[in-house]
Amino acid sequence: MHDGVLMLCETEIVDCNEQFARMLSMDKASIIGRSIAELSVPIQEDGSHSEAKAAQVFESVVAGRPGWIDWRMKRANGQLIDIEASLSRATLDGESILVATTRDVTARKLIERERQLLLDELSDKEEMIRLAGMASGVVSGVFDLGTGAVSWSDGAEDSLGVERGTLGKSMDEFKANMNADELIEFERALADGLRSGEVFKLEISRLEDDADNVVNRWFSVQGKANYNERHEAVTIRGTIADITEQKNTRQEIETLAYYDPLTGLANRRLLLDRLQQCCSQAERRGSSGALLFIDLDHFKLLNDSLGHQVGDELLIEVGHRLQACLRTEDTVARMGGDEFVVLLPSISGDPGLVASRVHTVAGKVGRSIAKDYIFNDNHYQMSGSIGVAIFPEDGTKANIILQHADAAMYLAKKSGRDTVAFYHASLQTEADSRLSLEAGLRNATDRGELELYYQPQVDVAHGGQVVGAEALLRWNHPENGLVMPDTFIPVAEETGLILSVGKWVLGRACVQCALWNEGRDEKNRIGIAVNVSPVQFRHQNFVGEVKSIISEQGLDPELVTLEITEGTLIDNLEDTKIKLDELQKFGVRISIDDFGTGYSSLYYLKNLPLDELKIDRIFIRDIIDDLSDAAIVSSILAIAENLELSVVAEGVETDEQAKFLINIGCNINQGYLYAKPLPAQVFTAKYLQLTDAGVDVL
Ligand code: C2E
Ligand code: CA
Ligand code: CA
Repeated sequence: MHDGVLMLCETEIVDCNEQFARMLSMDKASIIGRSIAELSVPIQEDGSHSEAKAAQVFESVVAGRPGWIDWRMKRANGQLIDIEASLSRATLDGESILVATTRDVTARKLIERERQLLLDELSDKEEMIRLAGMASGVVSGVFDLGTGAVSWSDGAEDSLGVERGTLGKSMDEFKANMNADELIEFERALADGLRSGEVFKLEISRLEDDADNVVNRWFSVQGKANYNERHEAVTIRGTIADITEQKNTRQEIETLAYYDPLTGLANRRLLLDRLQQCCSQAERRGSSGALLFIDLDHFKLLNDSLGHQVGDELLIEVGHRLQACLRTEDTVARMGGDEFVVLLPSISGDPGLVASRVHTVAGKVGRSIAKDYIFNDNHYQMSGSIGVAIFPEDGTKANIILQHADAAMYLAKKSGRDTVAFYHASLQTEADSRLSLEAGLRNATDRGELELYYQPQVDVAHGGQVVGAEALLRWNHPENGLVMPDTFIPVAEETGLILSVGKWVLGRACVQCALWNEGRDEKNRIGIAVNVSPVQFRHQNFVGEVKSIISEQGLDPELVTLEITEGTLIDNLEDTKIKLDELQKFGVRISIDDFGTGYSSLYYLKNLPLDELKIDRIFIRDIIDDLSDAAIVSSILAIAENLELSVVAEGVETDEQAKFLINIGCNINQGYLYAKPLPAQVFTAKYLQLTDAGVDVL
């Protein structure tokens, strides 16, 4: 090993290797048995006392929190040496000890200190420029409020370095040089200044052609009103100063102060800043965001065995990968050592959806970290443990959210590295269950776990004859039993699985419908209604697939009704029109599902080739007690009649509702009153035996 290694029990050095002794220019024998504090400077760089700090670090490492530390020691000759140590615990003769792998980072520390010096120097410089600016490069002017004229100090334009005539002879000419935003700001500052009598200030910028490159120059404008004996404002005296250099210096300071020098990523300070902003914004908007705390697994090991250089390159590469797999609005920060943080400013959806979306991103992040790293033709592998905190749910203060994400990261480490853990246990459960639902769903089709149930649609005007059935999807989950579509369809839509699931549904429903209608006379045919998800409908080959699936079964397309919600149709009317026209030409029927809950715009009802409106069950539910629901259903019927559309009422549960619907002439009904959705065999046996059994109607 080319690193120094030492072992501590409490604060006593119980052993070390030759390399460590060499670092201190001592021999092993004179080191072992001494207290670490004796060999260190009394006060460490962070202001802590070496003795106390060593004891505290020992305790925390032995308690199971390995980590890194920067430590300053003394060589035999009194020279100082900066050491970076990675700490872990081990057992020696039954006792817990601390093992420190150390490295001389005196040179690097020197650079860091220089950087800090530079930063301080720049801050001084900024102050100096500010002060200097007051003495030179400043011009003054007087604005006469009565006449609107402005007079400037001699050679004003030359001393600002702007073209002659730029400042103008009147307020109007002066303002003509500002852009719209600046003008608004200027007018406001002026008005405030006039009202308060105080000095007003603002900064304006100008793009200028400097030989061949365009530079952005900044000016500070200040002014104060003067009043006559009647306390009326008569003039405004003001100054203009070139503050371009000051602005640029400030920019430089920001770069130094807010970015990690190794990776160029945001540093802790900038991250906390942005996090606080995002969190306040999320609170205001009622949205959510997430913070991922990423700690590389076993980085210490690689870093210790391959050396600093490779370790640094690895960290830079991780930074690149994180940025590459995230959106530009996300912030990637390095917190120091091998810890990175990703800030996702806004994620939409209910808590469960947010959790699963964040989980997806975290998965992506984890996978990008886990790809091979190649240095000098050698391949290395690494993984990351990721802790997630959601805000504002898990906290509204930046440092608290960060702490929580950190805590979650430790959970992830504990549960076996290369994993994702949520700070909030219930979100973890949500994300896990969504994830397992998704995984299960992927195989459900192949394993034959999906099944269609059928709910009859009956014609109450013709003795309750069953005229059709709506196909409703069920999932016979091997562990959870029968799973309802409201649970898994959203997941299928989210993951795109709905495309294959939807194809299966249509195919299965067509097979069933063909069976039912075998040898049936024209008048008594049974139609099949199939639900179409927006994701399916928007898919470019949707129409082609519908056609080929129906043709494959040799089924008359007129027997098939596609149920599509209003929202889906409206979403992209142009595309909708093209698709529906083609479907109509082919012969399938189109029904608007959940009608009444969406836009219900007459425009699209009139302009799209539709066949049926399916009144949403919320109107049927209260049709007896709620006059407006009754009115809505009646007007839907009237509109449908005018546009020659058929109507199906869904969710009919009681005799009263049925009676009401019959009275107002709504004849095709569907609902628990007649039958719940049934497995195919039950449906067939119940309604479609030789002499078709109708459904009892009133
Ligand atoms: P939906 O299209 O509005 O389907 C009608 C839902 O109302 C069904 O729920 C049905 O069981 C239920 N229902 C029927 N009669 C009554 C009644 O009298 N009272 C009450 N309270 N409910 C009644 P289900 O089967 O749980 O399906 C829920 C939703 O899942 C469906 O709403 C549909 O949007 C979706 N879905 C079902 N199967 C499929 C499918 O194959 N593909 C797609 N994309 N979505 C499907
Ligand atoms: Ca439906
Ligand atoms: Ca419906």
